[in-house]
Amino acid sequence: MSRVLRPHHGMCFQFYEGKGYSEDFTDHMGRIIREMETEPSQIIKLQVGTDIVCENCPNNEAGDCTTADKVKKYDEEVLKACGLVEGDEISFAEFTELVREKIIDAGIRSDICGDCSWDYICREKERILRAVRRIFKMESILDEALRRMDDAEEAPQEFLDYQTEIKKLDEYYSSQDWKNDYVMDEDGLLPKDLKRGVLSEDGIYDALERNKELMERIKETRMVKHVILWTLKDELSAEEKAAVKQGIKEGLEGLKGKVPGIVDIKVNINGLESSNADLMLDSTFENIEALKGYSVHPEHVAVADSKVRTYTKIRSCLYFEV
Ligand code: SF4
Repeated sequence: MSRVLRPHHGMCFQFYEGKGYSEDFTDHMGRIIREMETEPSQIIKLQVGTDIVCENCPNNEAGDCTTADKVKKYDEEVLKACGLVEGDEISFAEFTELVREKIIDAGIRSDICGDCSWDYICREKERILRAVRRIFKMESILDEALRRMDDAEEAPQEFLDYQTEIKKLDEYYSSQDWKNDYVMDEDGLLPKDLKRGVLSEDGIYDALERNKELMERIKETRMVKHVILWTLKDELSAEEKAAVKQGIKEGLEGLKGKVPGIVDIKVNINGLESSNADLMLDSTFENIEALKGYSVHPEHVAVADSKVRTYTKIRSCLYFEV
């Protein structure tokens, strides 16, 4: 047979720490919780009225709670938040999970029972729970970040792809949350076995510094694409345009081997009729420094001055890392 439980007691169970209306009451409530937790698959029937917990309560007057209006409201709000109705039968484990997810994790517990005399206990436990979850999450980001930093040379893209997560670590480190978590740890409020490298003096700082150095190094060694689309001047005849395009192609492609850092350089002069540009430079450089050197290199400047600038009216350009 299912045991009767009033819905709001599902919330009380979450943070119960042995405080209650009388010794008799707390002994009884502690025993009920232990029994439920030992056999979480047992079925409970949800009832807006006195239940198994109320049995030893001094507020229970012959089956009626003296604070009935207040606790009835709690019950109804718990049912609503969990998507349940009075009379529903559900396993204790399932009900506990619903309360955790829909009320505690959703952060609405104090909206439901913030006027309860034990609210201060739940409030403090929720604060610790949030800190533990936050620290746990930041620890996993830190672990993964360190792993990707170790492998950054062999797998730079994997390292770069993790920068959004590393930014979260950076934001956490300079946030009020980090200071609060640190103080909570100092005050001995966090579980002893909680991994908390992120709260150490230099844990995150060292990782962020290392990340900065690696980012700079990778940036220096990343190849850069440099693409230009040109439109030739209108006054040129079709024959002149063909000759200019050929001249630009030979001039720029001929720079490979003369200008350091060019990985590849191609000029496409055979665009389809539907194009609205006349030719395209598609070049790749060893890194951003090589591209900077190319732009001022005398061999390149000579080609640009003699073969390109005089004949072009529109120049659109795109740079990107590869
Ligand atoms: S206060 Fe009311 S609802 Fe709470 S345990 Fe006592 S009798 Fe039950």
